[in-house]
Amino acid sequence: MEGRELTEMYPMLSVEEAQERVLRHLKMLEAESVPILSALGRVLARDVIAGYDIPPHANTAMDGYAIQAKDTEEASVDKPVRLRVTSELPAGYVSAEPVTAGTAIRIMTGAPIPAGADAVVRFERTRKDGEFIEIAQPIPVGKEVRCAGEDVKEGDIVLKRGRRLRPQDIGMLASIGKSEVEVTMRPRVGVLATGDEVVAIDAPLAPGKIRNANGYSNAAQVLKYGGEPVLLGIASDNNSEIKDKIRRGIEQGIDLLVVSGGVSVGDFDMVKRVLAQEGEIDFWRVRMKPGKPLAFGHITLAGRSVPVLGMPGNPVSAMVSFEMFARPMILSMLGARDMEHRMVRAVLADEISGKDDRRHFVRVKLEETEDGYVAHLTGNQGSGILTSMVEADGLAIIPEDWSRAEPGARVQVILLGDML
Ligand code: AMP
Ligand code: MG
Repeated sequence: MEGRELTEMYPMLSVEEAQERVLRHLKMLEAESVPILSALGRVLARDVIAGYDIPPHANTAMDGYAIQAKDTEEASVDKPVRLRVTSELPAGYVSAEPVTAGTAIRIMTGAPIPAGADAVVRFERTRKDGEFIEIAQPIPVGKEVRCAGEDVKEGDIVLKRGRRLRPQDIGMLASIGKSEVEVTMRPRVGVLATGDEVVAIDAPLAPGKIRNANGYSNAAQVLKYGGEPVLLGIASDNNSEIKDKIRRGIEQGIDLLVVSGGVSVGDFDMVKRVLAQEGEIDFWRVRMKPGKPLAFGHITLAGRSVPVLGMPGNPVSAMVSFEMFARPMILSMLGARDMEHRMVRAVLADEISGKDDRRHFVRVKLEETEDGYVAHLTGNQGSGILTSMVEADGLAIIPEDWSRAEPGARVQVILLGDML
């Protein structure tokens, strides 16, 4: 199929239309049970419900004395109240005796409140006098008492399905007694680079050749978003070699294939052709920059059909296309609830001129000021300039209908920094 014919067959889609199409037929993968520490960064497959209250018993928030609050109602500096200390209670034990009127039990943080007591007075607010303590102010009911269930109530959903687990979630799982948890399987994502000019990372750099950057940046993105990369190496611009590598990926059980290079209109842009021959092209070209020649479809080989994202080969285009399309596909297969990138509002420091009607994703570094974030271009915005991606905190979104952007323009910035 020739370039012009394809251009007529496939209208350019908006980013949203293209995102909707890549997600259309995806299903959430199955769940597996893993030890909670291995679940960090994984997506919870089911709601987690607490089987009991946390804390399970009312306990003291401070080291001090468990008392009956009413004993201190009249206490003052001039007329302190004297209470007899009957015993001592460390954390981890239950008091054998109650607190009765006129007495107190010495109690350590976390120890259950003894029967009869309704408040705790911390050491610093008491004066010791042999087996007595003196309290010089009224202590209200409930002072320093942590109630049973104040953190979590039995039956509460403590963590909702679709959540990507963070360290505090792992702590919560431990506190409700879960040593294992059900998370979604990691999507296996085949990563293939194409191009006669592309050579392996450790191959000699013969004249005319460049190293395979995309195979690694894309595989790192797969890891970052919770997938498992399946490295398929490099295929030259040759129909049967591309098919061969894809078949190998499919045999390894990939759920998604990302290919870089070979989706433009050049004579050697074979990936589109393979997609058309061995499956179907769903769409080609998205109204964005970088990343316009993106091709999406399905390939059926070795008896299985897998979604294929054909991304342009320039290193920044491949990464930005991945962010906008492969990332939501991975998150969708993971059943992640929160699919949106983290974004911040910022004010542009630089001018952007000569803009066309595509949505531009501009590499920026963020400066935090008293008036919010200022976004500075990180330099040459060419699609092949990986340094300006390395320098970037994020991608500023310049909308389709802006013909230019003046310094001071307000933009949204997709954050690239964290692991979400
Ligand atoms: P293509 O999309 O195949 O036309 O490639 C566009 C540009 O990206 C060309 O300059 C390629 O040499 C370059 N390129 C393609 N694949 C890679 C890769 N895996 N790593 C680095 N650069 C690449
Ligand atoms: Mg190429």
